[in-house]
Amino acid sequence: MTSVLRAVVVGGGMVGAACADVLARHGARVTVVESGAVGGGATAAGMGHLVVMDDSPAQLALTARSLELWEDLAPSLPASAEYRPSGTIWVASDDEELEAVAPKQAAYREAGREADLLDAPALARLEPALRDGLAGGLRVPGDRVVYAPVAAAFLLERSGAALIRGKAVALDDSGVRLAGGQHLSADLIVVAGGIGSLELLPELPLRQRKGHLLITERRAPSVHHQLVELGYLKSAHASDDDSVAFNVQPRPTGQLLIGSSRQFDQPDSGLDWALLRRMLARARDFLPELGDLAALRIWTGQRCATPDHLPIVGPHPQRTTVFVATGHEGLGITTALGTAELLAAQVFGTPSALSAFDFGVERFRPEVAHA
Ligand SMILES: Cc1cc2nc3c(=O)[nH]c(=O)nc-3n(C[C@H](O)[C@H](O)[C@H](O)COP(=O)(O)OP(=O)(O)OC[C@H]3O[C@@H](n4cnc5c(N)ncnc54)[C@H](O)[C@@H]3O)c2cc1C
Repeated sequence: MTSVLRAVVVGGGMVGAACADVLARHGARVTVVESGAVGGGATAAGMGHLVVMDDSPAQLALTARSLELWEDLAPSLPASAEYRPSGTIWVASDDEELEAVAPKQAAYREAGREADLLDAPALARLEPALRDGLAGGLRVPGDRVVYAPVAAAFLLERSGAALIRGKAVALDDSGVRLAGGQHLSADLIVVAGGIGSLELLPELPLRQRKGHLLITERRAPSVHHQLVELGYLKSAHASDDDSVAFNVQPRPTGQLLIGSSRQFDQPDSGLDWALLRRMLARARDFLPELGDLAALRIWTGQRCATPDHLPIVGPHPQRTTVFVATGHEGLGITTALGTAELLAAQVFGTPSALSAFDFGVERFRPEVAHA
């Protein structure tokens, strides 16, 4: 008789829910421990943009594979998950940025994703609300948008996992200890607690990276794709300084969701008005009509960042029963399904092309060893 694998997943965000789902589909008996609301962490704070990004070959493989997995999942999702095609246009401000578009297009196509070059007139035709004088862009029609808290709740429910409302405070070789003293026995523990993972595994090289989002009132200028400036990667990742980038998502309600900002090590949830003003000025620079619009709601969330902007997915080097699935920074909605597939490949030996890339915690060996 074969015994059933008992798995405990710490964290009921998008990543934990996707991991619970994949473990259950491989026959594990899964318990999810969540100290707050399912999908209520970074998952609820994000834009839900399902986007292929090519910052590195590993990131391109992970995001492209994840988009395929979202496409497979889409017919099962409830309507309230608001999964819909949006497509992305990466907007080039000047000729220098436009020159960088051809290799980007080639990379996307190699990864199996459609991508079309846009010259200035084509960009203006597709998105007339953008200001004059932009150089063009790259359209990626297969990118999507999802309302992630609902998708997370759906996957968790589909997994049949037992949900325990409580805080995991310690891990040992035989399971997870909760704040109230209860001990959950487990053969496998998956730490998917977003930035909360640091409390359980302080040796992980994770930093919180705060972001602001704003949603406008309903009479926003008409935008047809998720629009992101091509300078996004530069401004998002280049340094430790506070940064903003143009990133706008049209909502079916006639509103616009406007991002995005990045700030390291700002644990409070309060608004930074100076940074917000910078973020909105950036958005207005691309969409001049935004100047007349009122904000309906503004909020912040905490991304969980690693030094190389790739998530950590894999076994903990010192703890035999512990796997880590965190550090997804600004891409955890997109990459949750690829993460889960990679986790299954590592736990059950199932195939995944993602295994060819290094997502393990040991790539940060010096930090882990000296933490
Ligand atoms: C402003 C902003 C915009 C974003 N936009 C996008 C986007 O457009 N596309 C995209 O792909 N990604 C986006 N992201 C990133 C994305 O939201 C995150 O990468 C993703 O939600 C991470 O999911 P997670 O499950 O790892 O973490 P979380 O959603 O934070 O979930 C972790 C859960 O674990 C629980 N937890 C933690 N510790 C414990 C413990 N000890 N015991 C019990 N429970 C615990 C927490 O309560 C939480 O619910 C954005 C993020 C921000 C902040």
